[in-house]
Amino acid sequence: MMSVRMPRRSGTRLAALLLLALLPLPVLGCGKEGSPPVKGPRPETLPQYRVDRGFTLPDSPTWKKAKRRGHLVVGAKEDQPYMGEKDPATGVYSGFDIEIAKMMSASLGFAPKSVSFRTIASANRETALQNGQIDYYVGTYTINDNRKKLVGFAGPYYMAGQSLLVRAGEKHIKGPRDLDGKRVCSAAGSTPYQRMRDDYPRVELVGYDTYSVCVDNLLTYQVDAVTTDDTILQGFAAKVPNELKVVGAPFSKEPYGIGVPRGDNALRLALDDALAVHERNGDWQKAYDATLGLSGRAATPPPPIDRYPAS
Ligand code: GLU
Repeated sequence: MMSVRMPRRSGTRLAALLLLALLPLPVLGCGKEGSPPVKGPRPETLPQYRVDRGFTLPDSPTWKKAKRRGHLVVGAKEDQPYMGEKDPATGVYSGFDIEIAKMMSASLGFAPKSVSFRTIASANRETALQNGQIDYYVGTYTINDNRKKLVGFAGPYYMAGQSLLVRAGEKHIKGPRDLDGKRVCSAAGSTPYQRMRDDYPRVELVGYDTYSVCVDNLLTYQVDAVTTDDTILQGFAAKVPNELKVVGAPFSKEPYGIGVPRGDNALRLALDDALAVHERNGDWQKAYDATLGLSGRAATPPPPIDRYPAS
């Protein structure tokens, strides 16, 4: 059993007000003259990916089921700026992970209109893949050996690292060693949550389903820091740079993979092939520049793809 501490949320009105600050300007309808430019991905800047209409993958049960159904169901995040975000007004998903998912679906023979996204929280990814709720998952999903016992991974397609997000005025927290006795928030079921619990036992760890709730808690002084991948934290900081900052050097390696049902090696290897094609033809870079690159984070080249043998 995981000991996740769930404090009662107080100051809900203030929290709601502060959360509004995280929403993109067009949603609030307040893009008045002189306000900062909207930093989220603009649809016209996003690349189009060539749909491989003749593609078939008869050895993949997942692909065959999706073809029969007529569309793919892809698991993703909906509250991670520049990585995986859902526009509450339109329901449209955007971000670097979403672009990776679209590249993959085009290579598997599915046009953008035949892909539907479903939000799945960190703690529920393995179950969603195991019970067939989704065909594959793209959402800051770290490849590791424990998870490989439950699901398969194509990739990696990006390398992140665990880091810390604090309020802009914070002076004392500069790295994980400064967290003793502090309240630190992360998402249950994530590798950063697990690492905090295992390696920093004097931290008062708080777990929620999503990082946006953690950030809400940080802005309302209910926690002192949020910990997860630098990609996610830099996205939140870029949305409200006067309120939040990322501190210290990353203290882990988080290689992002595409989660697939375990045992569907045909799908896993087809996605590895597709990633290699889109990295070579420039789509990966274009997608990065139009999404995560907008947070100010410089692109690091994708790590080598690990085509591991079937197990
Ligand atoms: N990459 C980490 C993980 O897979 C943290 C981000 C997340 O929770 O999605 O657990």
